[in-house]
Amino acid sequence: MSEYELRLKEFSKLSKEGIIEKFRALIPFTLDASQNDFLDAVLMQSMKAPRSDWFSDILLCYSVSNAMISLMDKITDENPDLFLPRGEDSNEPITVRVFEDGDQQFLMKSEVFNTKSESEESFTLSAITMEKLLTNHESEIHNIEFIRYPITRANHRASPIQAPSGSFYVLAIDFFFDFLRGFIHGQRIFQKITPTDTPYFLKINLTLAADIDRIMSFPSKDVRDIQEDGFTIEDVKNELANLGLKWRFPEIQNYAEAVYSEVDKRKKGSVLRTCDLFDAVEHCQLNCILKIDDSLKKFVHSQKGCHRVYGFKCEDCAAEKSKKREEKLSILEKELNELKMSHQKTLEEVQELQQKNLRLSVRNETNEVKLKQLTEKLAQSKLSIDEGRYSTPCTSSASPLKIQCLICEKSIESGEDQIIRCPLCKRRSHSKCAINWLKEHQQCPACNGELPKY
Ligand SMILES: [Zn+2]
Ligand SMILES: [Zn+2]
Ligand SMILES: [Zn+2]
Ligand SMILES: [Zn+2]
Repeated sequence: MSEYELRLKEFSKLSKEGIIEKFRALIPFTLDASQNDFLDAVLMQSMKAPRSDWFSDILLCYSVSNAMISLMDKITDENPDLFLPRGEDSNEPITVRVFEDGDQQFLMKSEVFNTKSESEESFTLSAITMEKLLTNHESEIHNIEFIRYPITRANHRASPIQAPSGSFYVLAIDFFFDFLRGFIHGQRIFQKITPTDTPYFLKINLTLAADIDRIMSFPSKDVRDIQEDGFTIEDVKNELANLGLKWRFPEIQNYAEAVYSEVDKRKKGSVLRTCDLFDAVEHCQLNCILKIDDSLKKFVHSQKGCHRVYGFKCEDCAAEKSKKREEKLSILEKELNELKMSHQKTLEEVQELQQKNLRLSVRNETNEVKLKQLTEKLAQSKLSIDEGRYSTPCTSSASPLKIQCLICEKSIESGEDQIIRCPLCKRRSHSKCAINWLKEHQQCPACNGELPKY
């Protein structure tokens, strides 16, 4: 019987509930209540008509599902590293994102320590800087692969980042600036709080809450479009006044110059455009807000956001910078001192070497003189040998030197016989023997070398 026939036989005996159980058993994990309800409802709906109407369809559906699921099982079983979650003792490295923002590098704590301690839906996610991670948690970060993840922003707005829980996050500082931007350009809150000589009333709705929407509907001016040739610092100041911001922020025009130069530096086109004027107006207001509220200023500073407010002068940043500069300076000074010392040492070594060299060359000269004398002596003694005077003054040995004539093989008596030496093998013969030999030969009898004519 084929598998299909077997199944047909089995299913024909099953009740609707029994069939649903067969489907439930296909699913490789336990369903929660709502998933169970869903499965029941779908299957019950399909089995509403008389049994003969749906039986073959249900059987086909089950068979196809069964085949698909066993196929998937096979694939996952054969490639466990692709599908199974990383086990405690797995050697697979975990991948952790290193977020980069300017010169900062930081990581999500829950990601790097692979913990779920921060609840899935927590409002904040804490981070740890790369520097702190490397200095304080060196032992905990084996088998981690770091990948760089630059924080990106489009039109001032940060791109959301997905946390391991699936929720999306942005940096707190980005949220803060985004929020204020809404106040400044959206609700235009600082343009709408208007002064009057006498107190005034606001209509409230039935919940007795002040009608924020109504305040929001107060008229407010738009940032004016600017000419094709850009705008000046004066234009920024005029625009701030035109928008009515001077009442809320009396000193706002003082920021125009610093903000303007920053906007001008960062402009995307060749001339300043209306969107740049929006930026200028926004950053003048940001400067004012941070000036008024110390806690906001502290927050922005702690989140490394100071440089993002154009023209903003943060005392804490300045202090940190000068501290860092001092530290760097002292490190440089130390290095310089070390360099100086090693330079001095090198100098001393060089001097010592030079002195040694001098001594050596003196000794060398003496040696050369000696060598010369020796060579001369040797030359003289050679000369005396060549001339056949075997005086051998230095060797008073008992056996006198005996040398045979190469041709007659009789001994050559030192000092008496005239001898000739072969210029090549230096062997000797009596002059008269050699002369006789040369009458018939041109070669040395020993080495066959060409002999000079006599
Ligand atoms: Zn700062
Ligand atoms: Zn001879
Ligand atoms: Zn010879
Ligand atoms: Zn020879």
